[in-house]
Amino acid sequence: MAPRLTAQAAALRVGLMGGTFDPPHYGHLALAEAAREALELERVIFLPNGQPPHKPAWEVSPAEHRYAMTELACASHPHFFVSRAEMDRPGPSYSLDTVRAFQRELGPDLRLYFIVGMDSVVELPTWHEPDRLLEEAQVVAADRPGSESPDLEAILGAERRAKVQLIRMAPLGISGTDLRERVRAGRSLWYLTPEPVAAYIEKHGLYRQGEKNAQG
Ligand code: ATP
Repeated sequence: MAPRLTAQAAALRVGLMGGTFDPPHYGHLALAEAAREALELERVIFLPNGQPPHKPAWEVSPAEHRYAMTELACASHPHFFVSRAEMDRPGPSYSLDTVRAFQRELGPDLRLYFIVGMDSVVELPTWHEPDRLLEEAQVVAADRPGSESPDLEAILGAERRAKVQLIRMAPLGISGTDLRERVRAGRSLWYLTPEPVAAYIEKHGLYRQGEKNAQG
């Protein structure tokens, strides 16, 4: 399904932030804000994915819950938006398909920035058609605690490395995995995710059964 956004001006600078968002947390929000500020983006669009190509179905909460939580997480920021473009498309969520869907929707005077954490950008060689993605969007990456300053040239090769733009953000050692474990252990989510997200998790009883294992 095409993203429902309308082009308003020439050379619209738009950040795309894909993720599982299971649940969304301040690490995601701080990364998006660092990119928005550094690159003077008019908007950052969060894209909860459907079935991630690298994660099996039993590991990931239903997309509608992840979408609802991402909307709650972004609600107070005037330049953050959430799109159903990836989760409504059948099959695996490929970033290149998403970039092209936004190009079709928003027109040729669009500059797209594809925002990722360092743990994601080191996996770029395994993405679907990475070189086309690097041509059609500016890939932007920030360090993340646990994956700080890897040798990107060695990992990606010089040509791909030259096309990745690095930005700085205050390091936040927060992950969806840690938040899910905290809920399972009955621990606090204060100051790790916005309060409405924590309230949604509580209301819907998410993550209480813990991480499912391969036997399901
Ligand atoms: P999980 O622990 O479930 O794998 P996650 O916290 O890594 O989840 P994702 O939805 O997989 O969250 O991440 C979406 C994007 O946000 C990725 O590009 C990831 O690198 C980035 N990201 C997530 N958390 C942080 C963080 N604390 N700092 C910087 N980038 C982050």
